[in-house]
Amino acid sequence: MDVTSHRFAEKVRKAIADPQIQRALETAGPRFDLARRAAFSSFPEGEALRDLGRDIKARTLAELDQQLARLANSVERVGGEVHWASDAAEARRIVVDLAEGYGAKRVVKSKSMTTEEIGLNQALEGAGIETIETDLGEYIIQLAGEAPFHIIAPALHKSREEVTELFIEKLGSRRLESREELTQEARKILRDAFRGADLGITGVNFAVADTGTIAVVENEGNARLSTSLPKVHIAVMGMEKVIPDMSSLSVFLKILARSATGQKMSSYVSCITGPRRQDEEDGPEAFHLVILDNGRSRLLADPELREALRCIRCGACLNICPVYRHAGGHSYGWVYSGPIGAVITPSFVGREQASALPFASSLCGACRDVCPVRIDLPRMLLAQRRKIIADSDPACKEESSRMSSAQAAPAPSSRRAERLAMKLFTATMASPRRYRWAGAMLQLASRFFRRRGGWWRPPLITGWTQLRDVPEPARQSFRQRWASRAR
Ligand code: SF4
Repeated sequence: MDVTSHRFAEKVRKAIADPQIQRALETAGPRFDLARRAAFSSFPEGEALRDLGRDIKARTLAELDQQLARLANSVERVGGEVHWASDAAEARRIVVDLAEGYGAKRVVKSKSMTTEEIGLNQALEGAGIETIETDLGEYIIQLAGEAPFHIIAPALHKSREEVTELFIEKLGSRRLESREELTQEARKILRDAFRGADLGITGVNFAVADTGTIAVVENEGNARLSTSLPKVHIAVMGMEKVIPDMSSLSVFLKILARSATGQKMSSYVSCITGPRRQDEEDGPEAFHLVILDNGRSRLLADPELREALRCIRCGACLNICPVYRHAGGHSYGWVYSGPIGAVITPSFVGREQASALPFASSLCGACRDVCPVRIDLPRMLLAQRRKIIADSDPACKEESSRMSSAQAAPAPSSRRAERLAMKLFTATMASPRRYRWAGAMLQLASRFFRRRGGWWRPPLITGWTQLRDVPEPARQSFRQRWASRAR
């Protein structure tokens, strides 16, 4: 992957120039956000539950090794098997070996960002095992050969017409004009896939250490079929998904659906505790839980970024983010997009490969306000920026580590011009006389450039103005307008 600034800008330009993507983003972001607001406004205990959710996650992360050991014991106690994967390659190998060991020819998968993260589909297909995504959105992007566009709505960017063409091309369907017809067509194919599957693979929304229960939250029933029809169920989870007990689960279920889709509760919440017992009629004969690190230990060890592991992948920060709402999910270059993607991707794939992402933010703070577990995303975006600048400029390293240990927010800069500009700004703002003089100079400059046919793009910040406009100064300052009103 390559999301350095040049590549990122290229992808963003492409997304902005695509009218279908822009239409989809303009509709979906506000719609999800309105639904979230409505859900919380009629839920008085919501704010207290968000605090509780934050505290539970923080406590669990502080003792993550113990919680994971408890989870592993509990899963084994109920007849499941636990596998530990330090990185994506090891996780892929574990799952492919298990699938081959069971002689699996066909796998059905329910939507899982963690399996996207490790590139599991490609590994299974590479081993000759047919792999079918069963969430409708995931199924569409699998047919299109694309990555998810949004954490909870992977095919958000596709129009109905595009899906119609895709079904004609990939499935040989007749021309289906309505959403209902398209859904029915996919349903028919997927029902057959479930019936013939040897193995079901799911992600995990929460894993309860006390009982060894995994909770899978969804709206289509496909995860429930993936976990109950095939003889074997493999669940793949990032190690931060562990929570202590069932009462914690009830807290997260109440805030997850409200934050994600504005629902009081998702249509299906499957709580799975090990494989089928002797007296049970359905469920898999074998259950495997793969617990993945893949960079999470690095995040955990970093006091500035650890908080990102609280994320419950609701997608609310994407829906509110002004950058995501224009750039869309594919610009971020990997599976996680939006503000949370900009924070965690550099730690997962390496800062040098994702160096543009933490800068893709206006730092408006909207993501922090909507996050159900109150993750301070802007603070971590600044911390990642500082680390990236320090990587590229050794002179910044010392200052960066001093600021890291003090948990300070602003990014350091050794660039002389920037420092000089900051000193000038401080001197101007500290004196009313200098402030008035600077305002008058700016107005003079703006008049000059306006006469020459357009506002000015300051030469020192051409990189910055490539993707942004410098606002033209008002023709009259606030003070002048105030004075003329008073007269
Ligand atoms: S950071 Fe917060 S708002 Fe964003 S996906 Fe994670 S839990 Fe949701």
